[in-house]
Amino acid sequence: MNSLTADDRTQVTREATAEYWKHIIPIVQIAFAIHVLLLGLFLIVDLPVMWVTNAASVMAYIACLMAIKRRLYRCAGMLICIEIIAHAAIATWRLGWDSNFHLYVFCIVPIIAFGFHSSPVRRGCLSAAVLIVTVGGYLMRNKVPVVSISENVQDLFGAANALTATALLLHATALSVRFNLSMHMNLYHSAHRDSLTNLYTRRRVLQRLRQLGGGRREIPTALVLIDIDHFKQINDQHGHDMGDVVLQQVADVIARCVRTADIAARWGGEEFLVLMPNTTFEEARLIAERILMRISEQAGEIRQVSLTLTATLAVAILKDGEAFRDALNRADQRLYEGKQEGRNRVMLAE
Ligand code: GH3
Ligand code: MG
Ligand code: MG
Repeated sequence: MNSLTADDRTQVTREATAEYWKHIIPIVQIAFAIHVLLLGLFLIVDLPVMWVTNAASVMAYIACLMAIKRRLYRCAGMLICIEIIAHAAIATWRLGWDSNFHLYVFCIVPIIAFGFHSSPVRRGCLSAAVLIVTVGGYLMRNKVPVVSISENVQDLFGAANALTATALLLHATALSVRFNLSMHMNLYHSAHRDSLTNLYTRRRVLQRLRQLGGGRREIPTALVLIDIDHFKQINDQHGHDMGDVVLQQVADVIARCVRTADIAARWGGEEFLVLMPNTTFEEARLIAERILMRISEQAGEIRQVSLTLTATLAVAILKDGEAFRDALNRADQRLYEGKQEGRNRVMLAE
């Protein structure tokens, strides 16, 4: 995070905020539905202050959903917070502390928490408002005359509000956690998958090697290095875009030839590497032969064009105690020799 520039940070915050609100929309919709229900209820029992408050809340939630649609997230957040705080304060004042309307203020805690990067004044005001409604409401609970409603109705409100507010808070917290996880998944995907070919990146190969236990290997691990032949000519003759499509086609072929436990990665420009845990040299050689055959049979067929496409491959086994870099250098050396010998072949770095 520290190496990000101010521009990067703004971009990350913007993307995270959009993603967060995408996860929060269901909560806003549920809140809207609850207020429509309460509006009807207070109209039936004829409590003017309460149905007017609920009518205002319904409008606030409509405005909030519109603000989210227009990406006015700060405005949406403020609307929700003000609605919940005002509604809880008015309802507690009119129907009494035991109606449990004050519990809804806790539902804005995830929104206040997510706004950690926003103005401290705004955060301070919202936190103070939560305290005023909860602590103030509690201290004043016997001092303010409330609308007289039967004890049964009071109990009904108390129980229903405790249930709904707790369920909403649990749901909002679960959505926040899901948001967090989804952000991590996106980050993991961007860091470990190549954006052009969707194969793994170098970083994932190195991570897998660390998982396999560095230099000490009880099970054999093989690697196959693949380099497309005369790829520069494809770019020169057919354009860079066509070159990109060829890379994608070759990547698809490689991905289809390897097994799920293997790590097929884009190693560099037109170079690929497959890491094969628990694989013997002979098994790796067979897979490399299959990749070579499929590249020349399938990868050159692009739209109406049929390109002659070949590759040179090198197979090596990571010996017990051998550093990955040394095995890679052996494969690289053999690949170079394969190019010298006429390309379109599988070289063995035994
Ligand atoms: P050799 O058979 O010896 O491997 O020859 P080559 O032309 O394949 O190898 P060389 O290293 O001379 O050229 C590789 C080319 O790959 C040069 C570079 O412009 C191109 N390249 C690297 N990355 C990309 C990419 O992402 N897209 C496209 N279209 N071309 C790329
Ligand atoms: Mg190359
Ligand atoms: Mg090449």
